[in-house]
Amino acid sequence: MTHRVTLMPGDGIGPEVASAALEVVAASGAQIEWDEVMVGQPAIKEFGTPLPDAVLRSLKKTRVGIKGPVTTQVGKGFPSANVTLRKQLDLFANLRPVLSLPGVKARYKNIDLVIVRENTEDLYAGVEHRLTPGVVGSMKIITWDACTRIAKFAFEYAVERGRKKVTAVHKANIMKIADGLFLEACRKIAKRYPPIEYEEVIVDALSMKLVVNPYQFDILLCTNLYGDIISDLCAGLVGGLGVVPGANFGKRGAVFETVHGSAPDIAGRGIANPTAMILAAELMLRHLGESAAADRIHDALINVLSSRRKKSLTPDIGGSGTTQGFTEALLAAMRGLTESELTRPYAVQGRIA
Ligand code: ATP
Repeated sequence: MTHRVTLMPGDGIGPEVASAALEVVAASGAQIEWDEVMVGQPAIKEFGTPLPDAVLRSLKKTRVGIKGPVTTQVGKGFPSANVTLRKQLDLFANLRPVLSLPGVKARYKNIDLVIVRENTEDLYAGVEHRLTPGVVGSMKIITWDACTRIAKFAFEYAVERGRKKVTAVHKANIMKIADGLFLEACRKIAKRYPPIEYEEVIVDALSMKLVVNPYQFDILLCTNLYGDIISDLCAGLVGGLGVVPGANFGKRGAVFETVHGSAPDIAGRGIANPTAMILAAELMLRHLGESAAADRIHDALINVLSSRRKKSLTPDIGGSGTTQGFTEALLAAMRGLTESELTRPYAVQGRIA
């Protein structure tokens, strides 16, 4: 079956990692017809906006998209294209599986955490105002409906995937009303899922606990801002931003992406690690029901990473290679050309999502 998917390469290293993912998906056996649309800097140049109407039109038709990172200017400029896209399509749940990958140097081994982040409100609602010169306000919008649906998503995910525990992340000791409402909703939903353990941890304490002993957590259920920050922390536990994918789900579709940003410091140098984008493509294939193609990609990735051949790996994970070299090694592994030198020790370990 051929699937139509909206492709948004993004900017910065986006087009580099997107093109790697495309090559790998093409070799996976899945039949995808890409509907490519511009987002981010190229779209600003061409259409005067980082998120042209054509993007939403395409996604409304295909209901599945994959997106490279998009630059969001700090303190000025257009509203974030990522945030706008999530809000416009009501992609309320952001799922970030954080998994140790063999061969990737990291502080910890065998990490298997999932971050479930609310995607549509909190301080990301974008309600900011200037009261008087030198005095501004930024609203933290929290609603009962959004809290209950994200909590439900986390517990349903736990049941489907056989996971054990959901930890609600909050700061209700200070934001008693806003984070208090979030906790109230989480508790109400948690009661419906007695086999799943439920606990609550204050976000600052969680940060410390994650660094000291990340194995004590399973699913981290977060409002928008805490989810963003905790995602980068967790990426650091497994080797950095280059290796963690993300997915946004809503009733009307799904968009797969990287956790990392556009990395302007390395854009155009051909050394971006495409792993996160390739894992995002793997998540997308699983969502489309193409599990054999997803398995092929995952196995090839594990093989190339665990081979530790410096030339096949990008510098962020200790290699001396390029995005293209890494991609070619993956394609070769998928064709089975290097089968003899690959021991496939982790070939079936830790599928994503
Ligand atoms: P954003 O706020 O848009 O999420 P950010 O400020 O978190 O972005 P990133 O663009 O994600 O920043 O980059 C943070 C650091 O991680 C940079 O030094 C960047 O080079 C590095 N980095 C991010 N993604 C990759 C990747 N795929 N390969 C190699 N290095 C990366």
